Amino acid sequence: MGLNFGKAEFVRSASNRDSFLRDGLPQLAFAGRSNVGKSSVINRILGRKNLAYVGASPGKTTQINYFLVDQKAYLVDLPGYGYAKVSKAEKERWGRLMDSYFQQEQEMITAGVLIVDIRHKPTANDMVMHDWFRQTGCPEIIVANKLDKLKKSQVEPALALIRETLELREEDILVPFSAEKGTGKEELLRILDAHCRS
Ligand code: GDP
Repeated sequence: MGLNFGKAEFVRSASNRDSFLRDGLPQLAFAGRSNVGKSSVINRILGRKNLAYVGASPGKTTQINYFLVDQKAYLVDLPGYGYAKVSKAEKERWGRLMDSYFQQEQEMITAGVLIVDIRHKPTANDMVMHDWFRQTGCPEIIVANKLDKLKKSQVEPALALIRETLELREEDILVPFSAEKGTGKEELLRILDAHCRS
């Protein structure tokens, strides 16, 4: 594997387009509704406990966080969505930030990673994010997190529901994952690494 995900550092937070990073390095954009375990997934793949802040407060919902991986690529942590206690003003800020990110940064996104909860049908907000990724034309990887919370017999039906709801084609990638246990980590790293090479 080319990219050493264990060598990562926080670079900056951006809350408007002026602070977006666009230096030409590949960017892997991670999205997911709040509490889906996005920070936990990021920490798991970077092999760190607290690089991405787990259990971030609502005040953190309007920042994009950039992590530099092995000096070769950025892991872009998009702000979580769907947090019930967020004010209308903050939701609007989130919307503006996402609009400018997806409009301006389209060609900068190497791959999108949409994290969903394996136990639940993807939400309306998940669909919106999924459509945004699809519109950029970048490859999208769906990560179904919290696999450890399901019994073995529940896994296949859960994955089928996610595939059906997001209208995934056979070739679209859906990775069952557990940030808690580390299941799926190697597969996801292989996929991300491959996207940063091409
Ligand atoms: P975020 O808001 O999407 O960044 O989610 P966090 O990473 O803060 O995680 C939300 C909660 O879900 C925390 O209590 C995590 O410990 C828990 N969590 C995250 N991933 C997993 C997982 O794979 N399995 C289990 N059982 N819990 C998880």
